[in-house]
Amino acid sequence: MPTIGRFAPSPTGPLHFGSLVAATASYLAARRAGGEWLLRIEDLDKPREQTGAADTIIQTLADFGFVWDGDILYQSQRLPAYQEALANLKPNTYPCTCSRKRFGACYPGTCRDKPLSNPAQQHSIRLRTHDQPICFTDQIYGKYCQRLESVLGDFVILRADGIFAYQLAVVVDDAFQGVNQIVRGADLLDNTPRHLYLQQLLGFPQPSYAHVPLVIDQQGQKLSKQNLAPAVSTEKRLDTLVAALRFLGQTCPDASDLDTLNAFWDWAIAHWNMASVTPQIPPAG
Ligand code: GLU
Ligand code: ZN
Repeated sequence: MPTIGRFAPSPTGPLHFGSLVAATASYLAARRAGGEWLLRIEDLDKPREQTGAADTIIQTLADFGFVWDGDILYQSQRLPAYQEALANLKPNTYPCTCSRKRFGACYPGTCRDKPLSNPAQQHSIRLRTHDQPICFTDQIYGKYCQRLESVLGDFVILRADGIFAYQLAVVVDDAFQGVNQIVRGADLLDNTPRHLYLQQLLGFPQPSYAHVPLVIDQQGQKLSKQNLAPAVSTEKRLDTLVAALRFLGQTCPDASDLDTLNAFWDWAIAHWNMASVTPQIPPAG
């Protein structure tokens, strides 16, 4: 089976160094395997979207010499597919009218088996979980297990504002696009058991997973669009790519020894080794 990898940014801000690292790792892993690399814009959360960010991200990736296969998929065009998945999950879902603030990290199942008293009332849809450990072997972290019911509780797959949750959309689209190799930031390691659970319920194959370390800023925070990480500069692209590759634990010639972006990518693809990426301490759970 050919390898199909992907990069799936949310257009909540420009590409920063942390997302460049994730893009680079997923790109190199897919290309090293002789596979395809797809680009998907995860633009479901319209309230959090920043106007123009999708185009900026796409342009920045092109400027850095990334070449994606096929057309870019926009999640905002995929609502019927999420609706269909929701219908297929129906036996395991229920409406919830609880406000999120009432609970900590774990939802105690308050609305399980409790029909809506007023169907017009705003509600989210939650997916029933179980407490058997759901495990997978991450290519960087090794074995990771999570008990969904006691760690998270039944989780939201359709938000009360009518927006499909990332958890559902990512699983539906990875299956739709035939993605079988997922390489992304370590902040999503503890989301993965939810994805495995959804894949099982929906009858989708399970991709391989590798969660690359997050870039931390001087305040010890992960670089993210929410903490307004600066856009990666396209001025010294070779130096930036060399820094990304070194961050990923790969050896790399000096930027001065690589005269073009093409030379960088040829070298990086030929030498990519996932085993050299150092894991970050996984979050509890
Ligand atoms: N859209 C997510 C983000 O930008 C990444 C989704 C994924 O790689 O599974 O954080
Ligand atoms: Zn509830």
